[in-house]
Amino acid sequence: MSEMLQQGATIGILGGGQLGRMLSVAAARLGFKTHIFEPGANPPAADVAHQVTCAAYEDEAALRAFADTVDVITYEFENIPTSALDLLETLRPIRPNRRALAVSQDRLVEKAFLSDLGLTTAPYAAVDDEVDMAEAIDEIGTPAILKTRRFGYDGKGQSRLRSPEDAARALSDMAGAPAVLEGFIEFSHEVSVIGARGVNGEVSCYDPGENVHTDGILHSTTLPAKLTASQRMDAVLLTAKILNALHYVGVMGVELFVTKQGLVVNEFAPRVHNSGHWTQDGCAVDQFEQHIRAVAGWPLGDGKRHSNVEMVNLIGDDMDQVPELAREGSVALHLYGKSEVKPGRKMGHLNRILGPAG
Ligand code: ATP
Ligand code: MG
Repeated sequence: MSEMLQQGATIGILGGGQLGRMLSVAAARLGFKTHIFEPGANPPAADVAHQVTCAAYEDEAALRAFADTVDVITYEFENIPTSALDLLETLRPIRPNRRALAVSQDRLVEKAFLSDLGLTTAPYAAVDDEVDMAEAIDEIGTPAILKTRRFGYDGKGQSRLRSPEDAARALSDMAGAPAVLEGFIEFSHEVSVIGARGVNGEVSCYDPGENVHTDGILHSTTLPAKLTASQRMDAVLLTAKILNALHYVGVMGVELFVTKQGLVVNEFAPRVHNSGHWTQDGCAVDQFEQHIRAVAGWPLGDGKRHSNVEMVNLIGDDMDQVPELAREGSVALHLYGKSEVKPGRKMGHLNRILGPAG
């Protein structure tokens, strides 16, 4: 299917969180419908999607019925069970492809993939048990971070080692899950690039944003990021390299550490990314429309940034600030319609326009 999807076509989205919600809005603006597949009840995307299936990823009949109604399948989170994808890919195209998912789902495979591309990552070693752990510490030293290979998000499944004495505690934090030990990178700051690749191989990257994390969760993204012209170029080129190597179709977020020695790749996410939310109010074509264009076989927007922007996540009871923020003229609010406020839960975000891009 290399033609452009036509008006009224349906895009299937695996996952119904805020990313699925914002993808659905973007799809609707281009004249498409979306069908959300989500195991949890009352997903945020349900308010704005054409159709919603609430079923488990193990429910084969539900997966088949879902695929029947859609023209192409995409996803808004990475941890979709392999069995569901095995079935779905026999029924409809999945974009981005399986390889991108498989690589990003496993931090060890991901690190090896990035190193093979000639990109710099943190020093790393696989850790399954005490023996591996001792060897990994010998090789990498401390400080270091032990991370589960799979299912990590928002800094979950991670344990920091200040010294080798922390080894046993860190290993027990993994609760038996296969892990990878990473050397601690002394970065000055963190940036990310949101890149896109179309069906015909064209690539378009947004300007890198500067990210601040609090308690392992993204707090803010600011544009422009503090980068030299050559670092900015490097960030974009390495993102294009990853996109091309995977024959990727869709939007990807690439997280980078800025160090004195250059850029270090932390990880990539094969989906629209929280650190790309600024594009909604900083660019004519935002990351959500860009992703929909790519998976629908449309030409990409150029993603040029017209404004300096600060994106701030509204987490948990940050929602109390909404009445005040709503009075601020240069703030665009993006709220996810989640009724239950929980600590650490992403409830919405704001984009504050700081002025025209320089
Ligand atoms: P998210 O879902 O927010 O992307 P995650 O659970 O996938 O998070 P990482 O991105 O690997 O986890 O790590 C979260 C944060 O922890 C990073 O953004 C960075 O601030 C810090 N961190 C991770 N790995 C390292 C490292 N090797 N050296 C220094 N800091 C690190
Ligand atoms: Mg991360």
